[in-house]
Amino acid sequence: MHQCSVCGHEDNSNEIKCPKCGHFYSKITQIIAEQEAQEELQTFRGRCKKILNADNPKLELLAELKRMRAELTKTGLFALFVIFVFVFALVVSVL
Ligand SMILES: [Zn+2]
Repeated sequence: MHQCSVCGHEDNSNEIKCPKCGHFYSKITQIIAEQEAQEELQTFRGRCKKILNADNPKLELLAELKRMRAELTKTGLFALFVIFVFVFALVVSVL
């Protein structure tokens, strides 16, 4: 149970900030939340959120797709390499 020190709103949920005015209940949770928001931007979900919240979602989506494609070649190659090594190790252990 939290009571907001700014607007006085009482909240029974486990929210870390006031759902009414957005005030964080403690400084530490605010820092953690900001950190998480930063980290979330690196994830697919965070990117989707960013696109949806953008002023021009269509433009943002195109920019994001471009960025993803550039990254995909890097991670895609790495994934292929890992699969290749795994299959190779499996074949060697069987023989
Ligand atoms: Zn509040």
